[in-house]
Amino acid sequence: MVDEELETDYLVVGAGAAGMAFTDALLTHSDATVTMVDRRYAPGGHWIDAYPYVRLHQPSAFYGVSSVPLGQDALDVAGTNAGYYELAGADEIRAYFAQVMHRRFLPCGRVRYFPGSEYLGENRFVSRLTQESWKVRVRRKLVDTTYLEGSIPATSAPPFEVADGVRCIPAGEIARIRERPERFVVIGAGKTALDTCVWLLEQDVPASSIRWIKPREAWWLNRRFHQPHALLPDLYRSIAIQLEAMAQATSVQDLFARLETEAFFLRIDPGVAPTMLHGAVISEAELGLLRRIENVVRLGHVRRIARDEIVLDEGRVPTSEGSVHVHCAARGLSRHPLRPIFEPGRVTVQPFMWGFACYQFAMLGVVEATVQSDEEKNRLCPPIAYWDANTDYLSAFLASLANGRAQAAYPALANWAKDTRLNPLGGIAHYRDAPSVIDARERIKRAGAAAAGNLVQLLKANTAQPRGTRQAH
Ligand SMILES: Cc1cc2nc3c(=O)[nH]c(=O)nc-3n(C[C@H](O)[C@H](O)[C@H](O)COP(=O)(O)OP(=O)(O)OC[C@H]3O[C@@H](n4cnc5c(N)ncnc54)[C@H](O)[C@@H]3O)c2cc1C
Repeated sequence: MVDEELETDYLVVGAGAAGMAFTDALLTHSDATVTMVDRRYAPGGHWIDAYPYVRLHQPSAFYGVSSVPLGQDALDVAGTNAGYYELAGADEIRAYFAQVMHRRFLPCGRVRYFPGSEYLGENRFVSRLTQESWKVRVRRKLVDTTYLEGSIPATSAPPFEVADGVRCIPAGEIARIRERPERFVVIGAGKTALDTCVWLLEQDVPASSIRWIKPREAWWLNRRFHQPHALLPDLYRSIAIQLEAMAQATSVQDLFARLETEAFFLRIDPGVAPTMLHGAVISEAELGLLRRIENVVRLGHVRRIARDEIVLDEGRVPTSEGSVHVHCAARGLSRHPLRPIFEPGRVTVQPFMWGFACYQFAMLGVVEATVQSDEEKNRLCPPIAYWDANTDYLSAFLASLANGRAQAAYPALANWAKDTRLNPLGGIAHYRDAPSVIDARERIKRAGAAAAGNLVQLLKANTAQPRGTRQAH
């Protein structure tokens, strides 16, 4: 079949949060035209296939695209998020991205959107439904939001063997289960497993009916310190807490110990040293629920589930045909070699600082539209890997400090960062006279420089340690 041809300034591959936030910023800060391509049938990326009981782990207030608010900024009064600002669920997020596409992007006349279409490389894509194919002449850049695409249980097979006759289902399927199984065996240590355990407990499944197979223990961020609006002063205070701990810590372990004492970092099992840090935020109420689960298996990764036993890296545990095994073990975010984010003819979306995803995605769009050369853009946004181990928090935090300083040279960018709803700290000026904010400001000033210097030393010392004793994995 002959390719249809079309022309555009930017060809954005992926209409997930990254593609949407980046495009929104381009539309606001330039007159560019954009063509968006995604193999999924609607905008929203992984949220289209997410498990039904998923919610954002951070407030809706700073998720999505900059120009369209998400949610009503309501405080939850019930459940594990009580007292905190609302967290959108999957339905709301899907509706939100559809609204952004159909009420903002398409009506502005500068965006063309091709859902259900596979990008083939070389600026070509094909419709999955009609097999019609397109060749795009890209005047400015290809924007690849798929370089670090994660995998989720609903669309990826479990990374272990499952024998015939074993009941093993992806996370979301437990919401549709018909008969109560003998036991729920939750496999995975990340956010999906955590959400699954919390949801089961909220449905009054007894903790004794849940077995949790955790290859690693994780650090979680306390939701108390990640709130907007009236609760923003606590978020600001957490910057002071982190900088002081960073300035004073004598090792990576000591830094985490200090931040745990301040309740900034949380762990579910106080007896196990966490080696994993994915940056997800949980409430202390969720923590309380999760601590009820006593049947925790720590024998490494699952290799095979047979009808009567589960084989792991470091041992075996019995199971039964009456148990349902819940696959929460998708790879999550990818870790590919870093490449410059901005190159001639190409933007490769990657994280470049510690912080929530959408703020970073949108900032890349603003940088692309408002900063002149690729060299300058890369100086502002040098890529870092998505965090996975404890030390990644230190390097990502250092990158944030550097990004904050570099922004000062770009007033358009600095002003945007101050005003956008996606920047959790953006609104702090409204509370500048609150005593706790005045106090935190002084503490931040006092600890800032020493924190940056000590973080560099801590990372160096950690790398110098013999393998096996490093605080990493
Ligand atoms: C369960 C869960 C909860 C999360 N909660 C939060 C949260 O609260 N806050 C937060 O900041 N982050 C959260 N995240 C992190 C999440 O990575 C980001 O929020 C964000 O949604 C990622 O968006 P993305 O566009 O980078 O990736 P995706 O959503 O994966 O989108 C990439 C898109 O690219 C498309 N694509 C890939 N290859 C091709 C191709 N060849 N042709 C066409 N299309 C292609 C895919 O179909 C997909 O739609 C969460 C992640 C998960 C899994």
